[in-house]
Amino acid sequence: MSDCIFCKIVQKKIPSRIVYEDEISLAFEDINPQAPVHTLIIPKKHISTLLDIPEDDSGLIGHLFRIANKLAKDKGIAERGYRLVANCNPESGQTVYHIHIHLLGGRRMHWPPG
Ligand code: 5GP
Ligand code: ZN
Repeated sequence: MSDCIFCKIVQKKIPSRIVYEDEISLAFEDINPQAPVHTLIIPKKHISTLLDIPEDDSGLIGHLFRIANKLAKDKGIAERGYRLVANCNPESGQTVYHIHIHLLGGRRMHWPPG
């Protein structure tokens, strides 16, 4: 996707603070952090929304969650607690249409979310 900002981050055409990378996924710091820890975990391949995840790609999603959990441990927030968020479509607040998991932590989270 030539006009997708996260695809450009994957291709290193836009700079980002990358904290993890492998063949199928990338994690980088959110440009507008909402908590002391706010990292985005994305698949390298373009998928616009959660609704567009192919049926045979459940392994990819499991992988993204494993990376998120690993980063929570690495960043020292695993025991205190952290939140994983994935927004889908406008009412959820999705603004970038390349799926991503938000890893949020380092402060007390509120529930219900806004
Ligand atoms: P969404 O609202 O789609 O769930 O989350 C998109 C997230 O991407 C937001 O938290 C926003 O701050 C982040 N974001 C948008 N553009 C960029 C960018 O160019 N670089 C980085 N690192 N994060 C971005
Ligand atoms: Zn993309």
